[in-house]
Amino acid sequence: MDIDKIRSDFPILSTTVYGNTLVYLDNGATTQKPKCVVEEIEKIYYTTNANVHRGVHYLSQKATDLAEESRVVVQQYINAEHSREVIFTKGTTESINLMAHSFCRQFCKEGDEIIISAMEHHANIVSWQLQETIKGIKLKVIPINEKGELMLDEMKKLISSKTRLISITHVSNVLGTVNPIEEIIEIAHNHDIPVLIDAAQSVQHMVIDVQKLDCDFLVFSGHKVYGPNGVGVLYGKEKWLNQMPPYQGGGEMIGHVSFKGTTFNELPFKFEAGTPNYPDVIALAKALNYIKNIGLDSIKSYEDELLQYCSDELSKIEGIRIFGTSEKKCSVISFLVGNIHHYDMGMLLDKMGIAVRTGHHCAQPLMEELGIEGTVRVSIAFYNTKKEVDRLITGIKRVVAMFG
Ligand code: PLP
Repeated sequence: MDIDKIRSDFPILSTTVYGNTLVYLDNGATTQKPKCVVEEIEKIYYTTNANVHRGVHYLSQKATDLAEESRVVVQQYINAEHSREVIFTKGTTESINLMAHSFCRQFCKEGDEIIISAMEHHANIVSWQLQETIKGIKLKVIPINEKGELMLDEMKKLISSKTRLISITHVSNVLGTVNPIEEIIEIAHNHDIPVLIDAAQSVQHMVIDVQKLDCDFLVFSGHKVYGPNGVGVLYGKEKWLNQMPPYQGGGEMIGHVSFKGTTFNELPFKFEAGTPNYPDVIALAKALNYIKNIGLDSIKSYEDELLQYCSDELSKIEGIRIFGTSEKKCSVISFLVGNIHHYDMGMLLDKMGIAVRTGHHCAQPLMEELGIEGTVRVSIAFYNTKKEVDRLITGIKRVVAMFG
């Protein structure tokens, strides 16, 4: 990988922060955008702006074609069987809310159970909790061990005749653990239970093949895969999506509307009510093609090496506690040093131009489990370098020295 060339595609990486060149290590929160993505958005508004699916005129048809071609780009990126299995949403959060609302309405009755895990992002907790109130479903939670790995034996015990879905993150946004989703899907399918994979922290780091995985649903956000904000994906197997009722009502999701009764459109439009965010959909396709051009296998081996280096260097710091020590990790390292508050660490690193995340990372139940309020989180992308990791380590050592 030509890192210098790659970095030149991301002008923001040359930003000066308090006199230092930015070291951006908050990629788990959002990734930076390559020039081609930003330029694509500008290009669409300057040359192709028109409402999609509704006009017979030239611009509308051009915008529609580009948006539908983008659906195929997403389909190919995750190797879905059909492009109609790709639903565009606002992001992971909306995708999971769509799932919780629509799946529970169709398939769950009072007392039915959904299994999640102790390391989920709030999006994959609260969306289901809302259905506890609305539908009377119950949430069951797979515990984690001291390394921050899912306890699959415990998961097996949680499965019952009432289990309707297992909804699980692929990579923990706090611990960095890569969960054994192949095994989870196999176990679930042996009980005829579908599985939803939250790929918000994985789809930008490794090859995901939904057909090979045989997952029933998969969700991710555009802004975490070097694409724009406000766009995301819900992939679902056609057989499930066809049975599920629409999430929202409005334009485009209908077949025919009458006051006597309304029929609904086919997939994927049944789940895409209203004018979609087509400029960002098109720019998302640019981002995915950008990743593909670099190559996910090269990205993975580069990032894994950088993660290992960062992890080794962090481990040498006296008093450091790393949360999540599984052998199978990806991109993310969470830590605390001595009694230094995560917020103080983050603020002082920022003054040195180093951007990290601090706090509970939208995973308060996990924080409770770990017995802490928050962590400092470093999350790596393919444009980061060993030199940047060195700056992080020097920065942390300076903070430690300040606190004596
Ligand atoms: N799931 C995971 C694992 C995440 O890391 C995040 C965001 O950090 C989300 C869901 C929510 O993503 P978004 O805020 O883009 O909807």
